[in-house]
Amino acid sequence: MKVYNTLTRTKEEFVPLEEGKVKMYVCGPTVYNYIHIGNARPMIVFDTVRRYFEYKGYDVNYVSNFTDVDDKIIKKANEEGVSATEISERYIQAVKEDMKNLNVKPATTHPKATEEIDGMIDMIQTLIDKGHAYEKNGTVYFRTRSFDDYGKLSKKNIDDLEAGHRDIKVAGEEEKEDPMDFVLWKPKKEGEPSWPSPWSDGRPGWHIECSVMSKKYLGEQIDIHAGGEDLIFPHHENEIAQSEATNGKEFSKYWLHNGFLNIDNKKMSKSEGNFFTVREIGEKYPYEVLRFFMLSGAHYRMPLNFSRELMEAAKNGLERIVTAVEKVKGLMEKAEEKPLTAEEKEFLTELERLNEKFDAAMDDDFNTADAVSAIFELVKLTNTRMKESSSKEAVEKAYGKLTLLCGILGIEAERKEELLDADVEALIEERQTARKNRDFARADEIRNELLEKGIVLEDTREGVRWKRA
Ligand code: AMP
Ligand code: ZN
Repeated sequence: MKVYNTLTRTKEEFVPLEEGKVKMYVCGPTVYNYIHIGNARPMIVFDTVRRYFEYKGYDVNYVSNFTDVDDKIIKKANEEGVSATEISERYIQAVKEDMKNLNVKPATTHPKATEEIDGMIDMIQTLIDKGHAYEKNGTVYFRTRSFDDYGKLSKKNIDDLEAGHRDIKVAGEEEKEDPMDFVLWKPKKEGEPSWPSPWSDGRPGWHIECSVMSKKYLGEQIDIHAGGEDLIFPHHENEIAQSEATNGKEFSKYWLHNGFLNIDNKKMSKSEGNFFTVREIGEKYPYEVLRFFMLSGAHYRMPLNFSRELMEAAKNGLERIVTAVEKVKGLMEKAEEKPLTAEEKEFLTELERLNEKFDAAMDDDFNTADAVSAIFELVKLTNTRMKESSSKEAVEKAYGKLTLLCGILGIEAERKEELLDADVEALIEERQTARKNRDFARADEIRNELLEKGIVLEDTREGVRWKRA
């Protein structure tokens, strides 16, 4: 299995630190708003990487953080006149809902920066003790030149970087020993959340949180560290400096970075204002179409341009797969158990060949676009070969293979069962009875069950009204 490692700029054979195990850390979102579909790209891509490792039999420990203390969160909290925690909790819930809709599995652990402050203070103290960091007026800086390998991930030379930095004076950071030094801890300003520390009441810098959370939940060395390519510099470069200076060991063996999701060939970003939230797109297309678009549209390292045409193409492609799955499912109910014909034996061999083709694409640095092509071949083959007279074993194997391969990509290739109006009415009646009996837990359970199936209830004076979302 080959993975492209940003650290070496080559595709390398994947060899885990420990046999049968993968420890991976994926930088998560800063939670101050609904995520846009660009933010969803790393979530979907690396969830697929995880699913593929699991299919290959690895035990994957997957950690992804929530950055819940940050200037943008504080700004939003001040605008709304609420606490920073209220903002971050609101959007953590929203991200979790978006992830569920996109069929992104919850991480093994989802640490939050604000709950890991002690660990950050410890690591910063270690860095100070080792001469890699220093304090000035309550701020602690990383002494970038003390780390010899600085620039190894981004392939930047520290002197060139410094030349570019010389004229840039960051307000309040004139006290730094060197313009290349970066903040590990900063004192609070009026109205900001803060924590006590040996240096000042303040809060951590962004980079230190990932070094600390990765070490706490995965250990000093991990197999894979991942995120969008904009994180290579400075975020991941600084994480390497902090972690390796602290632990004296290589931090992550492989560094994986996804390309940008663009719109009109420009990066989709909140600051540019050219973005769609996952929710906005979810109102126009089923969520699985968005996931399918991300995986079929381009290799994860390449840029991917978002457009209505490509989403329509993804929708049609997915529909073709779902129709084939539904067809074999229907055949399965009626098919008889009988010996395989010679043609069916050959069909089963072809299924295995296409499974191998799928695996070969995924083994080549997770080429999901090619893996999807193998699924389309499988769809075509199934549509032409499977018929009313097919044996049970053949249709079952076709169904099993289609759903297996789609599942590795996190695509549920079955039509969602729609609730009939009568079923909805019956559940509403049960909810009314539960409420009369003051069994509110059951009443809420029914409301949520309906919501999951896209039915929204509205309690009015005339009784309960419902609609399909
Ligand atoms: P942020 O909340 O900005 O830290 O972003 C969370 C994750 O989304 C990071 O891994 C970013 O690299 C990634 N990301 C942000 N914008 C895009 C985009 N337009 N395309 C792909 N990935 C993105
Ligand atoms: Zn990070």
